Amino acid sequence: MTDVRSSKSVAPDTACSTRGRRPSSIHQHSYRARRDELTGLASRSLFVDRITAALSQPHVTSTPFAVLFINLDRFTWANDALGREGGDAVLRGVATRLRQVTSGPDTVARIDGDEFGIVCPTITDADAALELAALVSVALDPPFTFGTEPLFVTASIGIRMSHPGETASAVDVMRDATVAMRRVRSRGGAGSELFTESMRVNYTKRAGIDHALHQALDEHQLLVHYQPVVQLASGRITGMEALVRWDHPEWGMVPPIEFIPVAESSGVINAIGDYVMTEALAQAAAWERMAGPHLAPTVAINLSARQFLNPRLAGHISDLIAAAGVNPERICFEITESVLMDDLDSTIASLRSLKDLGVGLAVDDFGTGYSSLAYLKRFPVDSVKVDRSFINGLGIDAEDSAIVQAVIGMSKALRLATVAEGVETEAQVMALQSLGCDIGQGYHFSRPQPAAALHNLVATGGVLP
Ligand code: C2E
Ligand code: CA
Ligand code: CA
Repeated sequence: MTDVRSSKSVAPDTACSTRGRRPSSIHQHSYRARRDELTGLASRSLFVDRITAALSQPHVTSTPFAVLFINLDRFTWANDALGREGGDAVLRGVATRLRQVTSGPDTVARIDGDEFGIVCPTITDADAALELAALVSVALDPPFTFGTEPLFVTASIGIRMSHPGETASAVDVMRDATVAMRRVRSRGGAGSELFTESMRVNYTKRAGIDHALHQALDEHQLLVHYQPVVQLASGRITGMEALVRWDHPEWGMVPPIEFIPVAESSGVINAIGDYVMTEALAQAAAWERMAGPHLAPTVAINLSARQFLNPRLAGHISDLIAAAGVNPERICFEITESVLMDDLDSTIASLRSLKDLGVGLAVDDFGTGYSSLAYLKRFPVDSVKVDRSFINGLGIDAEDSAIVQAVIGMSKALRLATVAEGVETEAQVMALQSLGCDIGQGYHFSRPQPAAALHNLVATGGVLP
């Protein structure tokens, strides 16, 4: 099993940071807090302390400084390909290269898993910080070698400049740097971005969103759209994924990525999830009556982490299915890979209890989390949805193609269906077919639409032109 989190910092030495020295047991605890054993870099807590110290310099003598938050892109694949030892070797190699591009006053830290950070007290303007980020990217360019295969590593880097007199805490600074990093990641990674005030607006909006979501439920501003899932060879629709939509009277359509995470942290996701399930189950029953049991599409419903972790979920779903009068075989639940990897034993038990209802189960966003292909074997799931980011690179990026091919091969061996997400071009369809993937979903076939717009298609047997 190769989980990057399992190689997280533990142990040696004293707070005086002598790298590589073995600890006496008395000092183990204090060292644990200061240094990352695997790489010898500063630990998260030392990193936080250094930011706090920089922020608390007296105004008169202080200068701006930069914090870089560095997240390796798709590091889990390194772990999968090379095993834990190989993954650790790559993390150590990254640490060495980060040290090489930094200087004495900088603090280089391993924050967690494949996340690194740099505090640079001598970088006082944004241009210099962006230059350092570029240096980091260049330093990571040469492939790492472990065994025979070269392994290419890129990073998403978020930069947060701090200015004398600002009232932010270290936690604020790290959160801002993370927000900027995610921006890079959402564009496919391999680059850097400076945190700006406009990004802050986005997350201070969260509080407002939470309040507005309760209202949205009461005032029926939420809708469910459906996106066809298609057999690549025939164009026949085999399924429909239910995707929630929020039509706010002033803000317009708010995308789920903006409100699902907020709903998740406040708990209102349970009410939203219930609404989506009720709608989607009723729709599935209606399509089943319309097209008959053989041609009716399976309806896929996304379950959030919070829903999935609810111990009463299966019983609740069972009630909803009975109330809708739908055949459970026409329903599939999608759970993202990162949720599944959280606690293996309880995950398997929860999946079993859902499976016992007779519904299908899919691993969503496969390839983006901490998975090891080996885990899949233990999950009672029926299909794997390969994340859009990999489909994007098909035919362009050799590594993406190799990853998709590996997932398809493994799914076949485990008798799971592979669904390609985010198929946008005919070229991708061809590439997927040549790799042996039979099912896809994406704008190339259809955007998510209201059920009414799909009515004729389903009634006529569901083959896309
Ligand atoms: P997801 O489950 O991975 O859903 C697929 C997303 O990809 C949808 O975004 C869909 O509109 C988009 N998509 C489909 N084909 C293409 C394509 O060809 N190109 C591109 N660029 N995008 C494509 P959407 O509807 O914005 O949903 C985003 C995410 O929000 C979903 O990702 C899912 O994680 C979450 N979500 C949506 N509805 C629900 C829901 O009812 N419950 C929960 N828990 N999460 C939901
Ligand atoms: Ca999904
Ligand atoms: Ca997905």
